[in-house]
Amino acid sequence: MESCDVLIVGGGPAGSSLAWKLRGSGLDVLIIDKSDFPRDKVCAGWVTPPVFKTLQIDPDEYSKKRVLQHITGFRTGMVGGTGILNEYGETVSYGIRRSEFDHYLLHRSGARLQLGESLKTISRHDNHWILNNIIITPLIIGAGGHFCPVSRLINSGNVKNGRVVVAKEIEFEMDHKQERECGIRPDIPELFFCDDLKGYGWCFRKGSFLNIGLGREDKVGISDHVESFSRLLIKQGKVSNIPPDFKGHAYMLYPPTSRNIVEDGVMLVGDAAGLAHPKSGEGIRPAIESGLIAADVIIAAVGNYKKERLQLYPELLEKRLGRFNPGNSLALFPEALKKTISHRLMATKWFSRHIVLDRWFLNSNQGPL
Ligand SMILES: Cc1cc2nc3c(=O)[nH]c(=O)nc-3n(C[C@H](O)[C@H](O)[C@H](O)COP(=O)(O)OP(=O)(O)OC[C@H]3O[C@@H](n4cnc5c(N)ncnc54)[C@H](O)[C@@H]3O)c2cc1C
Repeated sequence: MESCDVLIVGGGPAGSSLAWKLRGSGLDVLIIDKSDFPRDKVCAGWVTPPVFKTLQIDPDEYSKKRVLQHITGFRTGMVGGTGILNEYGETVSYGIRRSEFDHYLLHRSGARLQLGESLKTISRHDNHWILNNIIITPLIIGAGGHFCPVSRLINSGNVKNGRVVVAKEIEFEMDHKQERECGIRPDIPELFFCDDLKGYGWCFRKGSFLNIGLGREDKVGISDHVESFSRLLIKQGKVSNIPPDFKGHAYMLYPPTSRNIVEDGVMLVGDAAGLAHPKSGEGIRPAIESGLIAADVIIAAVGNYKKERLQLYPELLEKRLGRFNPGNSLALFPEALKKTISHRLMATKWFSRHIVLDRWFLNSNQGPL
């Protein structure tokens, strides 16, 4: 039987950041992931600069071998409209490819890796967990994303509660003709909100790659929304053609309503804990920050992984992520009025810049962790 001090299930940004923070702690950390890396992850791939600072990544160094698209503005509006252009004149966000970014983070984490190893069974023996009948550990970290089996273990069926976004996305490399015909500026991604405000679509060019997707809080008819959004992008001359093979995924919005995120010998980080930003769906930053905060709590616990001792983690997490209002500021208005007000607001330059972009998408009032 193989043993380790900390077993992380999932080598995405949450798991690899946690491991990275534990390097040099003396703890033997093992990450298992069902995929071989590099692996793709359904994601638009924009990451704000504080993430790079927090993880001490030099963007120039990173971009030597990988795609790093500097974003200096956005076009935002309602699906079917032309939108409003907001330019910042400096880099306010980056576009990365998840296959590259996650691979990079995983390999610099310093943890031992077992890739292509899916977590299938977990059982409790005294103060230890035994996984897949081959690994024994006192502490297991659920970092397996939205469908994390560790989250299911400590939430016994409650994982479906809460606000879940279902999304479909495609990322493909354009040929020269597609690049010439593409009406999207690489430094200006475009975001368009659905008419009922239950989601938004995006079109985002990263170097020669194009990423198109749409996510909604209501999974009914998601494919129809994606189809009509794609048709509009073509009709408006933003894209000449779009391959049909969109991939789907989901994530839960913060705050997680009734999800346990610690138990005896268990902690959940990232999407497994349900931490995506309630307005933008930004999940990479909270995934990374939760991993780093969890690592501090693990070090402070000095081997005592009882729930009472780990309870500090959700407290610190809430201090960092805040108590986001799960509703919205228009919640008191009737639906029809809410729609009219939101559409009007969305059409103003002030709202699109200071609320939609600065507050929701760039989270610009919050510095690096
Ligand atoms: C369409 C879409 C677009 C998005 N766009 C953005 C964006 O632009 N910016 C942003 O910040 N966020 C975005 N997000 C959210 C973001 O992708 C997630 O919040 C983020 O990936 C969470 O990281 P994580 O490490 O928690 O989980 P993940 O990145 O999902 O990693 C989980 C890992 O666990 C592994 N795993 C799963 N099950 C098992 C198992 N049984 N055994 C072993 N390993 C397992 C998986 O292989 C995977 O590598 C988007 C999400 C979607 C769906």
